[in-house]
Amino acid sequence: MADCLFCKIVAGEIPAAIVYQDAEVMAFNDINPQAPMHVLVVPRRHIPTLNALTEADDELVGVMTRRAAALAAERGYAERGYRTVFNCGAGAGQTVFHIHLHVLAGRTLTWPPG
Ligand code: 5GP
Ligand code: ZN
Repeated sequence: MADCLFCKIVAGEIPAAIVYQDAEVMAFNDINPQAPMHVLVVPRRHIPTLNALTEADDELVGVMTRRAAALAAERGYAERGYRTVFNCGAGAGQTVFHIHLHVLAGRTLTWPPG
């Protein structure tokens, strides 16, 4: 989608520190990390918010979630703990309207999040 930051990263038009990619998803380091590990897992296809998901996306969301777990595990956080977050809507802090799963680890993560 034109004017979507994450579509531009997926297309290679804007650089990012890519840590994983396959036919469906891409993962790259957040530009403003909130923890020692802060990776964003995004679908290649433009989906603006969780509200736009359909049953046809169930597999994609599973792929994103399992990729988040795999990336955390390969950095040694499977047992130490990590957090995955989808912000949905401006009221929840979503600033980029192309769904992305935050994966945060490497520091004490408090609850509830700020
Ligand atoms: P949101 O607030 O929408 O849940 O998360 C958007 C995330 O994208 C933020 O954590 C922000 O730091 C990150 N971000 C914004 N612009 C860029 C960028 O150009 N490159 C990368 N790698 N991350 C970005
Ligand atoms: Zn997009």
